[in-house]
Amino acid sequence: MNDAGHYAANDVIAEVERFDAIVLGAGISGLVSASVLQKQGYQRILIVDTYGHVGGNHIDWSHGGYTFDIGSLIFQDDSPLLAHFPELLPLYVPIEPTWARLNPQGMITAYPISVRDDIFSAGVTEVVRIFSSVIFARLFQRKMRNAKEFARYWIGSRLLHRSGLESYMKRFYGAAVESIDIDLARKRMLWISEHASLKNQIARAFRRSHKGPKNRQMARPKEGFQFLYRAAVERLERRGAEFHLAADMQTIRKVHDQLHLQLQDRVVASHRVISTIPIHMAEKLCGLDSGRKLETITLISLYFSFSGNRGFSQPIIYNFSHQGAWKRLTMYSDFYGRVDDREYFTVEVIGNQIGCSIERAESDFRDHVHANGLFEGDLKLEGSDMLAEAYPIYSKGAAGHAAQAMQQLLAFGLESLGRQGGFNYQPTARASTVEAEAALQKPIP
Ligand SMILES: Cc1cc2nc3c(=O)[nH]c(=O)nc-3n(C[C@H](O)[C@H](O)[C@H](O)COP(=O)(O)OP(=O)(O)OC[C@H]3O[C@@H](n4cnc5c(N)ncnc54)[C@H](O)[C@@H]3O)c2cc1C
Repeated sequence: MNDAGHYAANDVIAEVERFDAIVLGAGISGLVSASVLQKQGYQRILIVDTYGHVGGNHIDWSHGGYTFDIGSLIFQDDSPLLAHFPELLPLYVPIEPTWARLNPQGMITAYPISVRDDIFSAGVTEVVRIFSSVIFARLFQRKMRNAKEFARYWIGSRLLHRSGLESYMKRFYGAAVESIDIDLARKRMLWISEHASLKNQIARAFRRSHKGPKNRQMARPKEGFQFLYRAAVERLERRGAEFHLAADMQTIRKVHDQLHLQLQDRVVASHRVISTIPIHMAEKLCGLDSGRKLETITLISLYFSFSGNRGFSQPIIYNFSHQGAWKRLTMYSDFYGRVDDREYFTVEVIGNQIGCSIERAESDFRDHVHANGLFEGDLKLEGSDMLAEAYPIYSKGAAGHAAQAMQQLLAFGLESLGRQGGFNYQPTARASTVEAEAALQKPIP
């Protein structure tokens, strides 16, 4: 950079454009961050994304009248996201979703566990074994060093296996359950201890049923996420924000108290940069190396249309059986209506378990549903998507390493947050909103 504040990069001399703040990533965390900063008085904000669209990993695909997405679908009308972008509310489609699971015995039954189908239908001998294993675990297996030991303590190893919870956890976490950090297991699997605790069961039995107002569940609009988030973009732009999508982010350099982001044809600078992109990408931009790339799940989404007998009535099915690499399927036609009398749905498959091959994912799914009597009829693959960095893998030590890497980025001047930037499995847009708000309220150390 020369004395006049000009850059010479790629033989192009670019003037440095200054912003009050720069946000990397236009997903939920990036949009909410920009909104929070605007409320704090920042006016000129630049939101930069390598993706050509807003909404981050809210990715959809429409084809021949069908409307699919990679698996992100359900939102709520009391989400704090709507306090930032109230225009989104009327665009959602109100729905009444129900959930079920395919258990290892091939039954479609209650999610996450069915006392009737998973325990009592097993026969007297098995019921005795299940209860003995719970008592044994509570008395003699009290150590909880990983996700498996946590779940085993609460429901016993017999039910853990019989219900398929262990197999599902492996898909959910993307790794063997024994290798998953206990702190994260506690956070993400709290429902197990809540349901299995005798104290909670008794409290529930005596608690009067609470009939307060319930939130409304909503699906994204049929037109897709771009249609939805256009309203958020317009609100942010009205207040002075600017978007630079499909950006080629090259480097971030520290120049005095500012960070300079080199894009292909411009250099932008600010004293405040919030990053919501994957940690290793932010490190690379800044020329930092924390020495370890955090492992993530690659998600394959298969887009099917179907005509025939599907073998279940609920729109969302989780795979708790011991076979099959698919994790969940969502019947969009239950929410948006059939197309040419065909149903259509997305199947989420853990790519890491199937060599990240779409062909293998498809044949594994077809074989598995055929063996379990689901989708008898004409099942047609309409399309697919493969997304790296879809979920963090919480193997032991990963959370500590992510915290160190974020600390290093912060020392450089970059505040890293969100599902990607915080290496944080945020299950909902609600969680992403709350966590972005909290992170940006904290004083910068
Ligand atoms: C499959 C799936 C289903 C979900 N279902 C729901 C749901 O039904 N309801 C709900 O409320 N929430 C759902 N969520 C969670 C919710 O979507 C997240 O909380 C939210 O999307 C996180 O936003 P973010 O901005 O932190 O990160 P992201 O949107 O993940 O990413 C932020 C930015 O990081 C960069 N980035 C991310 N991945 C890559 C990559 N592979 N390569 C290059 N750059 C990348 C991009 O610039 C992106 O804009 C789902 C998420 C997924 C992945």
